[in-house]
Amino acid sequence: MTSSPAIVILGPSALATARRIQALYPQAVIHGLSGRVEADQAYDDFGDTLRSLYRSDTPLIALCAAGIVIRSLAPLLANKGAEPPVLAVAEDGSAVVPLLGGLGGVNRMAREIAAELQVSAAITTSGELRFGTCLLDPPSGYVLADIEQGKRFVSDLLGGESLRIDGDAPWLEQGKLPMAEDAGRTLHITTAQRTARPDELLIHPRTLLALVDSADDLAARIGQAFEQAGLAQKSLAALLAPAALMTDRGLAQAALELGVPLRFITPGSALPGVVEQHDGLQLLQAASPEAAQTIGRPRGRLSVIGLGPGAAEHMTPAVRRALDEAQDLLGYETYVRMAEPLRDDQVRHCSDNREELQRARHAFELAASGRRVVVISSGDPGVFAMAAAVLEALEEIAAPAEWHAVELQVLPGVSAALATAAKAGAPLGHDFCLISLSDNLKPWAVIENRLDHAGAADLAMAFYNPISKARPWQLGRALDIVRTHRTPDTVVVLGRDIGRPAEALRVLSLGELTPEMVDMRTLVIIGSSQTRRFPRGDGGEWVYTPRSYPQQ
Ligand code: SAH
Repeated sequence: MTSSPAIVILGPSALATARRIQALYPQAVIHGLSGRVEADQAYDDFGDTLRSLYRSDTPLIALCAAGIVIRSLAPLLANKGAEPPVLAVAEDGSAVVPLLGGLGGVNRMAREIAAELQVSAAITTSGELRFGTCLLDPPSGYVLADIEQGKRFVSDLLGGESLRIDGDAPWLEQGKLPMAEDAGRTLHITTAQRTARPDELLIHPRTLLALVDSADDLAARIGQAFEQAGLAQKSLAALLAPAALMTDRGLAQAALELGVPLRFITPGSALPGVVEQHDGLQLLQAASPEAAQTIGRPRGRLSVIGLGPGAAEHMTPAVRRALDEAQDLLGYETYVRMAEPLRDDQVRHCSDNREELQRARHAFELAASGRRVVVISSGDPGVFAMAAAVLEALEEIAAPAEWHAVELQVLPGVSAALATAAKAGAPLGHDFCLISLSDNLKPWAVIENRLDHAGAADLAMAFYNPISKARPWQLGRALDIVRTHRTPDTVVVLGRDIGRPAEALRVLSLGELTPEMVDMRTLVIIGSSQTRRFPRGDGGEWVYTPRSYPQQ
């Protein structure tokens, strides 16, 4: 899967155009020069940013002069490495110039963006201009056998040679190719393995499936099967295996190394004909690349993710990727909204916050049917959130066996206590504990007992779910217990909506703290006896708990 584009802008005058392009690629991130423009992500150095995105193979759309982009990337162009599409777009949207990444589909992107901005793309690739298509960049489902040979072939066509197509190339039907019955050049769409002759261009359709029985020595066995059959391995569309092998790590690894999807079949599955058998492995021939993609079904995946406190920049890249790849998203409506941008084809299953176990079961049902499912929590999914509910659902006696075959992963996030602590400095810099003051799922007596012990142990404490309409008195009672162990000048931090637009941070003393200052969107940190505060240069206060504890 190619990564989502980065849109890089220098100032506010480019923001409107950047947003129009983002509408076209909802997963694209707008990077803005810090201090100049509020974008999705801030950067400090234009050249460094462009180069690091380029190196990580991220398609780049820079809203600035083409010259600036060229000069910034020049040092990287000499060595062949990643070559993502790179485009310069005039900040007012009046010009779209594809610069690099011809084989990564830069012209296709340029046309898409130009259409959105209602201008024409500055396409300069001769073959593409003349023939209306890039022969060297076939659509998904087809692969070019040899790029160098392909370049020569296209220059022959530009030099006046005509072309014949042998095989099925539906995407070329609309092209302006110089077709002739008695053409001197042939485009072969074939699964056959051979070295291309100078007068032909070979494109392999991904129509072959390898049905395998185990991961043992798989790469070698596949190589041999293709060789024996005289077939091109580039035509391999997917690995197929019996559903009983769904949890086999070796198979997943082999598919990853081969760069093809892994799908599973059940005894009744309809399969295409066998063209080769070798050492416990069968090669099957599907009718078309599209047909090949419909055989078998993938192992479902359930990712339990934490968004972090709110701001997109505090979300881990692994979580963003899981969200981008998800087909179904489950969670409390506010959190699903915080996971945006999402695509229209992603199904949102919003539900009330309290139905956690039911939501977990629903997630397993979807994932067991082969879908990529994400369950969304704020902060960290393992901190008073969905990860435990999901595991609880899985451990139930009634949990169907298919749920255990789902690829389950828990992806961490920045929890509210850590986000709040960081804003204040380092109040959790020494030993601390996290306590939920909600007595929905545990008896209040347990909470009191834990508060008492945490107080006696002089731990700093972070309170989650400190108060709500349904639980109005609990915080006051908790503070009474804490006050039996701490002096009134104990440092307290209140973080409300941390990482979100309404963020508010307050530093005060335990003596000053009253329950009215706190609501359910607040995280309360009670310092230990050692927690300190001192003025910051900007008028606020720093809070920290020293790393060392006095000898008793
Ligand atoms: N899984 C979440 C916690 C869920 S419990 C996490 O790891 O952060 C919900 C409680 O978390 C809220 O009542 C509040 O106390 C705290 N909380 C969650 N997000 C917060 C934020 N952005 N700012 C302050 N507190 C927050």
